[in-house]
Parts: sequence; structure tokens; C-alpha cells
Amino acid sequence: MSAQHPRIVCQFSCGAASAVATKLALAKYSATHDVQIINAFLANEHEDNRRFLLDCQEWFGQKIVQLRDEKYGADIIQVFLRERFMKGRTGAPCTKLLKRRQLDTWKQPGDIMVFGYTAEEVDRLEDFRERNPNRPVIAPLIDAGLGKDDCKAMVERAGIELPLMYRLGYDNANCIGCVKGGEGYFRAIREDFQEQFEELCRVQDELGPGAYLHRNRKTNIRFSLRDLPLGEPRRNEALPACSFFCEIAEADYQLSTGDIPPDRS
Ligand code: SF4
Repeated sequence: MSAQHPRIVCQFSCGAASAVATKLALAKYSATHDVQIINAFLANEHEDNRRFLLDCQEWFGQKIVQLRDEKYGADIIQVFLRERFMKGRTGAPCTKLLKRRQLDTWKQPGDIMVFGYTAEEVDRLEDFRERNPNRPVIAPLIDAGLGKDDCKAMVERAGIELPLMYRLGYDNANCIGCVKGGEGYFRAIREDFQEQFEELCRVQDELGPGAYLHRNRKTNIRFSLRDLPLGEPRRNEALPACSFFCEIAEADYQLSTGDIPPDRS
């Protein structure tokens, strides 16, 4: 490791892509740079994410620094209730307050961020670089041409069981009931995780229509999770992973779906 090199900071989000991105970054840079691995603890992720984190920590051969919000108890429900909204034009308050804020207090000038963007997400990387020309980032998965399925296979080949959420068929290991999810995703959560689903319904009961996440595509009227229509659950609905830069990824996602309410920022 060399003092004159900037730190390389891997954002481990308990997803397969960030695990492989971290492994590749360690292989490439750990002999020459100070490589750090950080993770934000979230109370609303499935508890199996912590098992996955520990398994990956062993695979990396390096400790993962776990950052934990104190103000909201690292709990998205507390964020929604206290901030009085669940998702806005510029992203979700949970990722900003529970992840981004932790990163902001921890980071140092000159840090190079490692993104877990996969080969399918080249556009997202380019967009990020365009919007943030002074923020150096590297994306080892894109450099290596690795897609999301490649990452899952690589993790399994390393003898690590994927997070339970993946094994249940979900596309990611985000919080249970991630506010970035569409209708199909929430129908799956309603089936699989009634308690967490009900908790989110109660938040919307309290906050009212401004907190509704979905809208009827014909009438353009928003509806609450309690009124989520029957239909096919979609566990594998593609959601951006919730990284420390989640809200930027979400802005991209927002452009491609009609699910995001437009009135809060
Ligand atoms: S995974 Fe979803 S619900 Fe959890 S912090 Fe990120 S955006 Fe919020």
C-alpha cells in the first residue's frame, strides 16, 4: 500500500454485484493502494444479509467497515415518519439519510469509489461520470464485462450462499419493501413479508397520499399500498441496488418507469 495513492473505497451493499466488484478491486489494487470496504447497516434488510456480509468478509480476507446511522436507528420506517415522505423526485430519503450521510462523514478528499454497476449498466456509469466529473469512480464489473448473473454465479462458485432474498427469487437484497419497487414487486412483498408490508401501509395511512408510491396508469391517480390491485407478483422485478449513490441510480430508474410520484424533492 502506498501513502501517495488515493484510497479505493468499495461500497458493499450485500448484493452479489457489489461483492464481486469488491473482490476484483481488492485483487487489482490492494498491493498498491489502501483499499477500504464499507457497508451501511440497515435495520430493514433481511437478516440473512448480515450472514452474507460475514461470508464475503472471509472471502475478501479483509474487514468490512460497517457504518450505522444513529439518528433514525438505521430504520427506514423512522426516516419516513420523521421526514414525512417516502420517495421524491431526487430519490428516497432513506438512502440519503441512512447511507449517503454516513458516507459523507466517513469519506476523505480524493477517495476513488468502486461502483458495482454491471455490464448491463454501462449507460448508468456514463451518466454518473457526466454528472459528476470531479468524483472519480471505477467500475470493475463493466471493465470485466460481467453481468448480474455472472456475479451471482461467481459468488456461488466461491462457496458463498447468496442472500436469502435472491434465493426467494428477488432481484436484489435491498430492504424488504424497498420504496423503489413497482406494483409487481410489492405484490410479492405482500405475499412473502406480511409484517413489513403492513408496516409500510401504516406509514402511508399516517402520511397520506403524498407518500403513495404508485399511480394508476390510466387515471394517473395515486393509490396506497393498501389498495394495491391484485395481479401477478414479480419477485424478479429489476430494482437498482441501493448503494451509497442509490439516489442517483434511482433518478435513472425514474426516467424509465411511471411509478415515482413527482411532487416531493
Ligand atoms: S433499499 Fe430501498 S428502502 Fe432501503 S434504503 Fe435503499 S432505497 Fe430505501
